[in-house]
Amino acid sequence: MRNLLADCSNCFGLCCVALPFSKSSDFATTKDAGDPCRNLRGDFSCGIHADLRSSGFRGCTVYDCFGAGQKVSQDTFGGRSWREDRASARLMFDVFPIMRQLHELLWYLTEAVALDATAPIRTRLQQSLAITESMTEGSPADVSAVDVEAHRSAVNALLLEASDLVRAGVGGKKKNHRGADLIGKKMTGANLLGASLRGAYLIASDLRNADLRFADMIGADLRDADLRGADLRNSLYLTQFQINAARGDATTRLPDALTRPSHWG
Ligand code: SF4
Repeated sequence: MRNLLADCSNCFGLCCVALPFSKSSDFATTKDAGDPCRNLRGDFSCGIHADLRSSGFRGCTVYDCFGAGQKVSQDTFGGRSWREDRASARLMFDVFPIMRQLHELLWYLTEAVALDATAPIRTRLQQSLAITESMTEGSPADVSAVDVEAHRSAVNALLLEASDLVRAGVGGKKKNHRGADLIGKKMTGANLLGASLRGAYLIASDLRNADLRFADMIGADLRDADLRGADLRNSLYLTQFQINAARGDATTRLPDALTRPSHWG
């Protein structure tokens, strides 16, 4: 999944320019899409990188582009930045969020293909992976024309099949919290082995010491969820973005593909 990990050194600061943000607990200021952040340096690095949280830019420590930034910068636009080529800047900013969604789908599909339990649908998963990859290889105009919502819907149906196959192999009764409102819910030590938490709202929930192995986490909102002591090994479709938004510490057990955020201490 190396190409699905952000490489800011090869990106033209696209998340700091292309995306809008509003003054809130996550951002100290407001800016429109296409406007460079006031902290973005001439070399596309962040002028407050070491102090983002204390400077009121917590949202920047949570965001993850799944490697879409370097893909758009170096491949789709051939290494010419929006500063060098103002005429294509708008198109670059339009392409970036589409590429980010495609890379997110590649992340899930790559994970699903590698799981033993998905053997019965592996060929379809590999086909979907190849189609998604080909969508990322097009010209700027090609990528901007991708109907990413329709593609996402088709991929999601396949990912759900893969999830069902994996979780069917987990013994015992499995909880179904798909899309559930679990905001602030106390679930300390909960047995969520093989549960469905698809799209669940887990904002500020207490998941300390919970067993989340083989739980389907796709789209779950983990902002400020307390994951201290939780076991997320082998959880399905978990992303760095979700982990960055949650709270945890050295006792949180993560899937191998994810990194413990430095702000967890
Ligand atoms: S504060 Fe830094 S990381 Fe956040 S948008 Fe601005 S330049 Fe980018």
